[in-house]
Amino acid sequence: MNAEKISERSKEELLLKITEQEMLIDELLAEKAAEAKLDYSWKGNLGHWYWNVQSNDVIFNPLKVEALGYTMGEVPEKVPYDFFTSKLHPDDFEPVMDNMREHLKGSTPVYEVEYRIKAKDGQWKWYYDRGKVTRRSKDGAPLFLSGIVFDITEQKTKEENLVDLMSTLIELVDKDELTQIRNRRSIIRELKARIVESAIQDYSLIVSMFDIDDFKRLNDTKGHVHGDYVLKETAKTIENTLKRKGCVGRYGGEEFLILLPNISKKQAIKILEDCRSAIETNEFLKNESLTISGGFTVYAQGDFEDVLRDADKHLYKAKENGKNQIIG
Ligand code: GH3
Ligand code: MG
Ligand code: MG
Repeated sequence: MNAEKISERSKEELLLKITEQEMLIDELLAEKAAEAKLDYSWKGNLGHWYWNVQSNDVIFNPLKVEALGYTMGEVPEKVPYDFFTSKLHPDDFEPVMDNMREHLKGSTPVYEVEYRIKAKDGQWKWYYDRGKVTRRSKDGAPLFLSGIVFDITEQKTKEENLVDLMSTLIELVDKDELTQIRNRRSIIRELKARIVESAIQDYSLIVSMFDIDDFKRLNDTKGHVHGDYVLKETAKTIENTLKRKGCVGRYGGEEFLILLPNISKKQAIKILEDCRSAIETNEFLKNESLTISGGFTVYAQGDFEDVLRDADKHLYKAKENGKNQIIG
């Protein structure tokens, strides 16, 4: 047998061996996928994936595409990496790529991300994906990665619902039910924060207490439902007049606390006067007079209760002086 024949034969044998190995690998991977499908009872587990970086082929458990609404028959025989990345939510694409790039470079021990991925029907699914380079070349270049992916859509939806519920609750906790402006808890919290801020940033803080004049008589003559209406409209009027220059909360029954931070005393008096006259000249009551009195103080020192006491003292002066006026 000559040398050419021998090498010819070993080439044939070699090809046969390679084919055999490839079949074996395919079998093993199929077995592994089936195993993952059956055995991993962890919620949302979509099984393992393997990425051959050089050939850019991705091998994965069919569950990974089935969860997106595809059948295996619909995906290309050789699935490239970007089959999945092209379906990522635009906001998640870069963070996912960054995470992978960092891991491929060897800067992080694992690749670990949460992302939204578009299902066949156009809906977004949430996946939690985690993997790592399992083989590198001698010079450290990544050759092969394996990982695992979970469908976390259900948890994410629950999380999002909870966040929504939380913000609704936070809003409710701080809102006065009748007037829909800040309630006492909220405006006092704001007052405490402004006191600290004004001391640190050295700006003036004007605090004012308003009280509707003769509100008891209004209730007694027109009824409480009408009284409620007047309270709501008064709150709205003050809020609209303040615009963004200050904030108002319902301190008690027909009393409102107004905070005007970072403003001169002169400007503050003008704004408070605008509020008072907006109530007096209101358009929500026909043939019925309505006025409000206010006391204010420029915060100098002490705690929030000292400030309230000062504003209240001036409010009583305004009442004593004949109501429908602001005193500071
Ligand atoms: P003054 O000018 O001195 O402030 O007199 P006033 O009548 O406004 O003050 P007074 O404190 O005697 O009465 C306040 C009234 O506010 C009594 C109470 O029934 C009424 N009030 C408090 N909360 C509410 C509410 O939520 N709705 C209604 N309709 N009335 C309320
Ligand atoms: Mg009162
Ligand atoms: Mg009153």
